Amino acid sequence: MEINPIRGMKDLYGLEFSKYQSLVSIATKVSSKYGYQCIETPIIEDTAVFQRSLGDESDVVSKEMYSFTDKGGEHITLRPEGTAGVMRAIASNKLLVNDNNPIKLMYYGPMFRYDRPQKGRYRQFHQIGFEHVGEKSPYTDVLSIAMANEIFTSADLDNITVYINSLGGSESRKSYIKAIVEYFKKYENDLSGDSKRRLITNPLRILDSKVPTDIEICTDAPKIQAYLNHEDAKYFDTVIRLLGNWGIDFVIDPKLVRGLDYYTHTTFEFKRGIGEYQDALGGGGRYDGLLKLFCKNDVSGVGFAIGVERLMMLMHDVEIHMKKVAVIPVSSSELDVALDLTKKLLEVEIPTELLISESNLKKRVETATKRNFSYLLVIGEEEKAHNEVSVTEVDSKTLRNVRYSQETAILCLKEKFES
Ligand code: AMP
Repeated sequence: MEINPIRGMKDLYGLEFSKYQSLVSIATKVSSKYGYQCIETPIIEDTAVFQRSLGDESDVVSKEMYSFTDKGGEHITLRPEGTAGVMRAIASNKLLVNDNNPIKLMYYGPMFRYDRPQKGRYRQFHQIGFEHVGEKSPYTDVLSIAMANEIFTSADLDNITVYINSLGGSESRKSYIKAIVEYFKKYENDLSGDSKRRLITNPLRILDSKVPTDIEICTDAPKIQAYLNHEDAKYFDTVIRLLGNWGIDFVIDPKLVRGLDYYTHTTFEFKRGIGEYQDALGGGGRYDGLLKLFCKNDVSGVGFAIGVERLMMLMHDVEIHMKKVAVIPVSSSELDVALDLTKKLLEVEIPTELLISESNLKKRVETATKRNFSYLLVIGEEEKAHNEVSVTEVDSKTLRNVRYSQETAILCLKEKFES
């Protein structure tokens, strides 16, 4: 019986896996330049970690969490995002020495959401995320956005635009929520069931709705910018000014509330192109009071996560062509010598594989050529008798089937691979 991956989950291998590795390596390199260190938190957390921080009314908590009761009766959840777990880890390990000592952490790995699978939307997907905790300043927000921009550029992804908004602090948000409740009440009968419920439980979430009628009603909804108090408006203006100074293109999007409850002040999302509807490539924002849910440190933070699968769809399919050597015994009598030569080549750091799966020499050479080996080292009866090897350089005529002593062949190859 054929057993396939669970719906919405897929195996990651070959070119896709190389792209994932390359994104992680770029993100690690760029973020370490900005002072970040890597952290890995468990994939499973106590359900309370997410319920406490993301908000009961968020889509993620209300519909998409993979939650279970384990054999010991614990309520556990496969992480739907990374920020809550990182906050839990900062608290559990007392990573903040004091409230004036910021910490910058990068994480990557699989996330799980029980969503309807479609192109670019999976039930297991990967994120690379970043959290800068312990400093509340528009300057920090801009540094986060600038770092994201640098990661995209380093991955050769151009034409990515930052969409940005401010949710203000609690006072501004309160007066804004009052205004949108008044507005949405006028359209209560036309709103989707979810939005109708949210009018009471969490009105901001209505702006996040993907239902077409809700989206239409939202078009003329009051914009938050008009409700920011002086201090919050100044904060947002500073972010805008600094982004301009840094040379980052952005679009102000008053509907950008993001799906989770913990955001305050700056929120942002990265999308490809401008104008037409595009799925987000990543997003984040500032959160006040999130860490306080896990410990006594009441410090603010800013962070974002990028969606690996979404970015991989945009990355060029460049097959990384690594030079490598194939050692090919002509028959089973040369197997031991061939393995010994393979060992010697690996010891001097030359990528080498022993090719034994085909039934005869011709087929082995054909396979090696198809699999892009740069050098074929054939050992037959004659070569074995004289401690030699026949070397073929696949891309050039110069070394075509020349016999060398094994020592000379290893030395020549070492030179070639070092150059
Ligand atoms: P979010 O925290 O929901 O804004 O997610 C951040 C990024 O992760 C999004 O912008 C997407 O690129 C990616 N993402 C979120 N959910 C999924 C999913 N179900 N499948 C694939 N990528 C996702």
